[in-house]
Amino acid sequence: MSQYLSSCFSELTAYVAGEQPKDKNLIKLNTNESPYPPSPLAIKAVNGEILANLRLYNDNSATALTQAIANNYNVLPENVITSNGSDEVLAFAFLAYGKDKPIAFANITYGFYSVFAQLYSITSRIIPLTDSFEININDYLQSGENVIIANPNAPTGIALPLASIRKICEAHPNDVVMIDEAYIDFGGESAVSLINEFKNLIVIKTFSKSRSLAGARVGYALACKELIDDLQRIRNSFNPYNVNAISQAMATAAMEDKAYFNDCTRRIISCRSSFTQQLINLGFTVLPSQTNFVFAKAEKLSGKELYHSLRKQKILVRWFDKPQINEYLRISIGNPEEISYVIKVLHDITQNGGHT
Ligand SMILES: *Cc1c(COP(=O)(O)O)cnc(C)c1O
Repeated sequence: MSQYLSSCFSELTAYVAGEQPKDKNLIKLNTNESPYPPSPLAIKAVNGEILANLRLYNDNSATALTQAIANNYNVLPENVITSNGSDEVLAFAFLAYGKDKPIAFANITYGFYSVFAQLYSITSRIIPLTDSFEININDYLQSGENVIIANPNAPTGIALPLASIRKICEAHPNDVVMIDEAYIDFGGESAVSLINEFKNLIVIKTFSKSRSLAGARVGYALACKELIDDLQRIRNSFNPYNVNAISQAMATAAMEDKAYFNDCTRRIISCRSSFTQQLINLGFTVLPSQTNFVFAKAEKLSGKELYHSLRKQKILVRWFDKPQINEYLRISIGNPEEISYVIKVLHDITQNGGHT
């Protein structure tokens, strides 16, 4: 830290992203990326014309992308804002709505929420999950504070029903309710259908998981026009050219290729259910996942031991050194070959008490 850093940031603990390893032989199941490439149409969209036009600024309204998103969800372009990854639109929302009141979120959820709260000096009310890792919605009905919920939640994978989201929106007429649906395409019920009914609801989504474009950095939010206008005001005061031309073209094509999207998500959901069953057969406790990962705990090995044993066998998963969840591993759903190798290795490790 230099002597020049503003004193308000001296205690800021930045978000720790999952490792992006140099070793390309590792089976990478630690950051919930898709095992499948982007849609072939998205790859084809990066054509000579797009590249030649990089001398110009990109379309700062992301017109085609916004329209493709609006078409997909059957809403108007005025109900959509695009961003450089969904992390960016989350940052806009924390900034836009956070300054005058606290924000409530779970103790075990996406790590960026507490980082944004710190960054913007927003008071957070952190609510423990139940012993079965669930969100008890009665804890989220206190008006006078904004709410953010990842639905399905990460790293647990557990989803809330739409009726619960509705109840939370109803309890907060004067606050903003943000629902982060990074994983909704793998199960669960989307709250997009509620954005015109609830003027306080923002639904946040990403191309990073279900649309195989993590590295292109494209996210978006859906909400009533007034909320989107607020978020546009922040975006245009921060970085109006936030989604680059190549990413806009790729994401537009990916959104339009519904057949490919359906095929990829179906494969991942099917692999998740067979993986879950096989883990249970090996004696693991597995939380009911509606996402592209599972959160699981071995019978006899600690989370830490298991993480290191897997790594020795070239399998990289995510382990959180945090009370209540440090016995668990979060394992992204890879392709079927990767997942059957994981099962083989876990079988060997658990049979040998961890000494492979
Ligand atoms: C992955 C993830 C995001 C962020 O994704 P971007 O790559 O920034 O779009 C947001 N929320 C949750 C819960 C996530 O898991």
